[in-house]
Amino acid sequence: MFHLRCYSTLKRKTIGFIGLGQMGYPMASNLIKKFQPEGFIVHDYNKNQALNFQKEHKEAQVVDSPLEVAKRCQVIITMLPTGKHVRSVYTGENGLLQGLQPGSLVLDSSTIEPTTSKDLSSILKGKDVNMLDTPVSGGTLGAQAGTLTFMVGADSPELFEKSKEVLQHMGKNLVFCGTVGNGQIAKICNNMMLGISMIAASETMNLGVQMGMDPKLLAGILNTSTGRCWSTEVYNPCPGVLPNVPSSRGYTGGFGVSLMAKDMGLAVNIADQSKAPVTLGAVAHQIFNKVMTTKGYEDKDFSSVYKWLNSK
Ligand code: NAD
Repeated sequence: MFHLRCYSTLKRKTIGFIGLGQMGYPMASNLIKKFQPEGFIVHDYNKNQALNFQKEHKEAQVVDSPLEVAKRCQVIITMLPTGKHVRSVYTGENGLLQGLQPGSLVLDSSTIEPTTSKDLSSILKGKDVNMLDTPVSGGTLGAQAGTLTFMVGADSPELFEKSKEVLQHMGKNLVFCGTVGNGQIAKICNNMMLGISMIAASETMNLGVQMGMDPKLLAGILNTSTGRCWSTEVYNPCPGVLPNVPSSRGYTGGFGVSLMAKDMGLAVNIADQSKAPVTLGAVAHQIFNKVMTTKGYEDKDFSSVYKWLNSK
């Protein structure tokens, strides 16, 4: 069931944003600039992140807990690392749940277990609040450009339409995936493929370079041949092939290897539930687990798997 209160325009509402990391910060920047809401409240448990945001966007206000966000906002977006973090922000001490106003709209863009999205959505319904899962694809570049793809799970097409009023300022492709949790399923499937293809791109580029090929020449050939994929064309893991990608700045920024390992784990888990075979996904999960636990790689972008291949 959705609530009519939620259907008046969101224009005069106060927006809350929790989680101003690699993705959340640029997403919130686009939202505050383009949507120009009545008020904009931010929270991150790393307070410096929130203060930096406020320095850049003077109209934003920083608060110290999700509870304060809930008390002051009618639309709330969360962008957090894992399901554990999302649960704690929603249902933990000083969490959203204690302060949510009836009729509010909550959008969680983190990539987490579909079951957690479903659980939290049903808990929030008890407070007369609609929660949608709205995970994204497009990476930090897409977040900065406001061109993300949002995969939206919602209890009704009307709620999806409502969410577009906010999401359109951060993304270009807004896709209704069906019921709550389905956004996560779409996202997890995409990331399983991305993880596998990044390893494939890394092994391929490494093989060519070890055999004496010029990396830019090899990438150019792949990108006009059948091996072409996002990992070779847009986010090539071999340093120097592309400017402005993590591989060309020491694998800093971007999509953390531990987040990719988490997403591969989510894929393996839902595959267990459905009994769908994900042999390559399971191997890729093991590889990212190894990369993320190798000294010096803990905070690196997931494309550092290229460098890791030669680290032993
Ligand atoms: P990140 O680690 O850079 O940012 C997460 C932010 O959440 C940090 O600023 C952290 O301080 C804050 N945070 C963590 N726990 C908190 C809590 N309990 N209360 C308040 N703030 C808290 O992560 P990210 O790269 O921005 O990714 C966020 C989500 O988006 C993840 O689920 C990730 O899988 C997904 N995602 C990331 C990318 C990418 O390219 N980075 C792309 C698509 C999807």
